[in-house]
Amino acid sequence: MDKKIYLDNAATTMLNSEVLAEMMPYFNSIYGNASSLHSFGRDAKAAVDLARERIAKGIGCKPNEIYFTSGATEANNWILRGVANANRTRGNHIITSKIEHPSILETCADLERQGFKVTYLDVDSYGFVRIDQLLHYLSKDTILISIMAANNEIGTIQNIQAIASIANEKGIPFHTDATQALGAINLNVQEMKIDAMSLSSHKIYGPKGVGALYIRSGLLVDRFMTGGEQESGRRAGTVNTPGIVGFGKAVEICTRDIVANSKKLKSLRDYFIRQVQQKIDMVYLNGHPVQRLPNNASLSFAMVEGESILFMLDMQGIAVSTGSACSSGSLQESHVLKALNIPADLIQGTVRFSLGKMTTKEDIDQTVDVLVSVIKKLRHISPVTKAQVGRLKKGDK
Ligand SMILES: *Cc1c(COP(=O)(O)O)cnc(C)c1O
Repeated sequence: MDKKIYLDNAATTMLNSEVLAEMMPYFNSIYGNASSLHSFGRDAKAAVDLARERIAKGIGCKPNEIYFTSGATEANNWILRGVANANRTRGNHIITSKIEHPSILETCADLERQGFKVTYLDVDSYGFVRIDQLLHYLSKDTILISIMAANNEIGTIQNIQAIASIANEKGIPFHTDATQALGAINLNVQEMKIDAMSLSSHKIYGPKGVGALYIRSGLLVDRFMTGGEQESGRRAGTVNTPGIVGFGKAVEICTRDIVANSKKLKSLRDYFIRQVQQKIDMVYLNGHPVQRLPNNASLSFAMVEGESILFMLDMQGIAVSTGSACSSGSLQESHVLKALNIPADLIQGTVRFSLGKMTTKEDIDQTVDVLVSVIKKLRHISPVTKAQVGRLKKGDK
């Protein structure tokens, strides 16, 4: 078998070697507790402070507006619950979209059970949030708008600036889950008038289990964890020094290399899509063709099961995903593809290819070759094919 090919970088990425090198001393050499007052602690704290500065610089905020968390899931939980609880007396309405990450959607569902009202905005066929609906549903009770910057399944990049401006004009806090956007598009929370933002390290070639929530100073948000004075007393628990150091370095690298990386990924991704569309019939690209993450190709193959494609590619050493990482493993339909009104049979035939910094043209050529034979085989044997051909003959899609 040829070398393995990893095309699931939207699920997680390989740790960058420069990042790893920067982290190493903080495991067994500079291992102090960053809260301790002695030199061991001060050295660890200095490293955490540097990481905080690097991340602040990467998104255009002040270092004391960055709060380290265990990842974007925690950051999303914090901002929603924290704003809801802190603003109970002002209002009880939150606006988000139907295509958010489960860490937003399930937290919102939880808040609904606690008596908050949540509006889930529709998206158009490209996955853009319906701005007309946003304007329509805004009310004096609205205490937060949370819309992701870029979607992890279909890659569509939202018009975040426009949404933030509307929120800002109405004086409503605006939060964005920028986990997938970080390192792909420029994010400047000051210029873009973003009040809160969730970030994760492991999607940008940093270590897993670390992320951050940016909270604009002055924004009313309850603390998230109790039991210590870490993170200005708002998120207790001994900080993950090596993780934070790695995250800081990863943000520095990805924001520094944003233009070159995006350009390279985009051209390789577009080449991949062209090749697939030339060599395979009845395959459709999901999301917006241009305003999308440079590494994402979400493709729906008619008359095949995405799960079967995934397993057959895996047998050839090629890693992809169906829908989102969280919904793969279950046979549940992707809520994102559903929100785009994609027909159920095409949703079933959807595969997400997400390229990474290490992806080569050879990897892409190899993947296209394997994919062509896999689709051919599956369409030949698929019971779906027979059922669908039957239906097509009857004239209903
Ligand atoms: C991966 C991802 C998350 C979750 O991040 P973790 O750090 O793994 O908790 C949240 N939102 C989006 C858009 C993601 O892609």
